[in-house]
Amino acid sequence: PLFKQVIGHAASQVSEKKAIIDFQAGTRHSYRQLISDVMKFRKRLLEESGAVGGDLNEARVVFLCPSGYEYVVAQWSIWSTGGIAVPLCTAHPPPELLYYINDSRASVFVTHPEFHDLARDIAKDAGIDKLLVIDRKDQKCDHYDSHEFEKPRLIPTDIYRRAMIIYTSGTSGKPKGVVSTHANLTAQVKSLVDAWRYTEKDKILHVLPLHHLHGILNALTCTLYAGGTVEMMPKFDASEVWNRLMKPERDLTLFMAVPTIYSLPVITRNEWKEISGGQILLERYGMSEIGMGLSHEYEVEKRYEESVPLPGVQVRLISEDGKDITDTLEKPGELQIKGPGVFKEYWNKPAATSKEFTEDGWFKTGDVAIKTDKEKVFKIHGRSSIDIIKSGAYKISALEVEYELLSHPNILEVAVIGIEDHEWGQKVAALESKLDLKQLREFCKTKLASYKVPTMLKVVDELPRNAMGKVNKRELIKVFE
Ligand code: ATP
Ligand code: MG
Repeated sequence: PLFKQVIGHAASQVSEKKAIIDFQAGTRHSYRQLISDVMKFRKRLLEESGAVGGDLNEARVVFLCPSGYEYVVAQWSIWSTGGIAVPLCTAHPPPELLYYINDSRASVFVTHPEFHDLARDIAKDAGIDKLLVIDRKDQKCDHYDSHEFEKPRLIPTDIYRRAMIIYTSGTSGKPKGVVSTHANLTAQVKSLVDAWRYTEKDKILHVLPLHHLHGILNALTCTLYAGGTVEMMPKFDASEVWNRLMKPERDLTLFMAVPTIYSLPVITRNEWKEISGGQILLERYGMSEIGMGLSHEYEVEKRYEESVPLPGVQVRLISEDGKDITDTLEKPGELQIKGPGVFKEYWNKPAATSKEFTEDGWFKTGDVAIKTDKEKVFKIHGRSSIDIIKSGAYKISALEVEYELLSHPNILEVAVIGIEDHEWGQKVAALESKLDLKQLREFCKTKLASYKVPTMLKVVDELPRNAMGKVNKRELIKVFE
């Protein structure tokens, strides 16, 4: 189980070493204290939720905690009881929280004192009567009872049990609950720790939301698995983050963000290297269903958009007519993934689950990629449903056009979409600010094939984004209607 493998692994290596630094509370917590607090909260969880035989038996436990120490205590406690952890986002409004709680059919609610009032109201609306508040005053404990921790019966033994439900970002429809087992999550963690070489010397500044894999797996769990230290900052504040990163002692070794946080046109990548004293940005491709699938190589400073499969991840490309084109260069196909990290199922959606797997057990990502000229190197083109624009006889990657447009000094943000067109099927359209269409087309001519150059342009104040900071392209299409 993840609790034993990941957490046990970390705990066995380190004790007084700091596991969590809680930026908001200004507190530091050793691995020893963390394990001890988990064991205490575990007991409460089992007692107060009426668990039978010391096991929550895959009951769904939603937890609403800001990014800080209590979040980790809650998550690990749930894992240790055999419950399914369903992390909620503190930034979501009540109706959205209710959607996740109802969809997952949660029966237990765990919250941080700061969210107690909100949690009480929502739990009531959802008909949940088991609400537990994690309070660090109760939790504080100086005596680590190692005997208790090592009792094997405290920990569920079946690694194929469900461990967590993560909801997808909802970019293409209603968010779906992605169920991963302890075995899935452990495989995802090990793969990334291996590829990105996390060690116990690592110290990360964690600024990502904790209801999606990026924040939960890559930033939090991988670092703790390696025995490193996680400094958790609940709100992303650019200047605060910058000051922290640039502290004279330069004690941080890891930082992760999403493109919105870096605000990352191509040149920023080079600038980042310069200002950070030689740190290279690694981009990875992943999704809730598979964990991380591909990544830039750790050592080689590759071209920006080139990725290779992570350890243990099998990748193939399938053409529209169903042929395996993995070994054909420069031909777009759907990325399909197999491996121990691939999720078990969509929660309560057997039809959706079977639709997304092939008969021979590959997961259909819905994303398009091409194999470039080198061994095992892929280039991600984007979602087949949104980012692949079909214009005349051509298939155009919106991401490629965006990538080129962002190199223009006057373009801060841009989104490229396909607009329905009688003659062409779809036309390439761009949204950004400050340029007019003529200037934009002039600029593109030197960079892109003529059929890829946008024929429509709209200037907007702001690009609509979902809670994950992803541009909502379906909303943008309405701008052109
Ligand atoms: P939903 O499934 O509800 O529509 P979502 O797919 O946005 O939401 P996530 O699982 O959080 O939810 O995101 C995974 C998707 O993000 C991938 O399928 C892919 O389209 C996109 N993505 C992830 N990494 C990259 C990357 N490096 N480059 C381009 N796209 C990426
Ligand atoms: Mg998806």
